[in-house]
Amino acid sequence: MAELDLVIRGGQIITATSAATADIGIAGGKIVQIGGDLQAVQEIDATGKLLFPGGLDAHVHLSRLPDDTAEPGWVDDFTSGSAAALAGGITTVGNMTFLAAGELPLAGLARETAVARGQAIADFFLHPVLDTITPQALGEISSLRDAGCNTIKYFMSTPTFDAQVPGFVEATRRAGAEGILTLIHCEDYTLIEDAIAQLQKEGRSALTYYPESRPVISEVVATQRAVAFAEATGAPVYIVHLSSERALAVCAEAQARGVPVYVETRPFYLHLTSERFAEDEGAKYVGQPPLREPSDVDAIWNGLRQGTVHTVCTDHAPYALAAKLDPELSIANLRPGAENLQTMLPMLYSEGVRKGRLSLHRFVEVTSTNAAKLFGLYPRKGTISVGSDADIVLFDPTLTRRIDRSMLKSNCDYSPYEGWEVTGWPVLTLRRGEIVFRDGAVTGRDGSGQLLRRDATCMH
Ligand SMILES: [Zn+2]
Repeated sequence: MAELDLVIRGGQIITATSAATADIGIAGGKIVQIGGDLQAVQEIDATGKLLFPGGLDAHVHLSRLPDDTAEPGWVDDFTSGSAAALAGGITTVGNMTFLAAGELPLAGLARETAVARGQAIADFFLHPVLDTITPQALGEISSLRDAGCNTIKYFMSTPTFDAQVPGFVEATRRAGAEGILTLIHCEDYTLIEDAIAQLQKEGRSALTYYPESRPVISEVVATQRAVAFAEATGAPVYIVHLSSERALAVCAEAQARGVPVYVETRPFYLHLTSERFAEDEGAKYVGQPPLREPSDVDAIWNGLRQGTVHTVCTDHAPYALAAKLDPELSIANLRPGAENLQTMLPMLYSEGVRKGRLSLHRFVEVTSTNAAKLFGLYPRKGTISVGSDADIVLFDPTLTRRIDRSMLKSNCDYSPYEGWEVTGWPVLTLRRGEIVFRDGAVTGRDGSGQLLRRDATCMH
């Protein structure tokens, strides 16, 4: 019998559809055998551990534009972001690639690929963000798949969105025709501006009032519009970081009619509520959309369980604590975003699986399998099966940790979950068969992460 590179012995393999205790044989970075007689150069004992397919976080911010030198900015790059991801059981990240003024999507992807190739340890892919719709930008949508890209993203919350709606609808249509998924930030610019103006008039512009400045209705109306775009064009849309019960109801109603609407949420909306903004350091919870109410949290957990919410991604976009707490900030002058990469999986396990809100299979689906399908990477990523990349997390379901800034691999100096006690924690992470995280230390080499070529989006 041929000797393999690595065998993982005795772990319980959990996928979206199955659970089995079996040995896993790995060679050339791939899973080549599950069960049976296996001999290898190296062995890992996984007795008592759960084995999950590596997490796939399709929504991170690990880059800034070359001309964006304003400080403070997001503090992670592809190296520190990868370290946080791998320590948290996430082996693949999808980064938002903003385009410079006048830059076209393919040029932006090439520019950022060159940066990420030198830095990343996790495998990665990139979403070009369309801000200005030009004939040239529309013309490039049909070339994105050839470049291995199956997504575009745009924001409804920008001041220039409304004047370009015909262009964004056309971009969505062309994307759908190519098997490209359109990611949409659903908050309505006009209603947010109006809410801010009203609050300012009342002298309530401090961040204590932040949730009121981006009301649920601004998310609902934008989500309705995104659904309408999908329905009118037949193209699939993916709602990033959905935060409210009412916006989810809009998506669920559309899904029930067969409209291709996919929903992402993030840890903020599963673990925290708007009362946080009353705290002394409440500004550290500023993200877009804002934290909502307990009933919204319950609705999103239900959506995860029932399948109306497809993915949990981080929207990892950390600022240093001092930058978040800058007293000059207000509802009209924000630094949205937080550290999340390292804690997302264990917190979802601890608060979700252990508390009976999510099955183990659903946990794997929403952290790995569904994203692999939507982002054109399945079954290379998103499952543990013969032929798949050996992206595997050894997860100790009994290990209890208290979240503390000192454990963070991110360059960020705080966690929004400081002090939370979490049971269930990743102890070892394999990326394409290589041990890249073990016993608290990231061992993968900078630049060893690969740009992933993506096929058409497909949820089947
Ligand atoms: Zn984002």
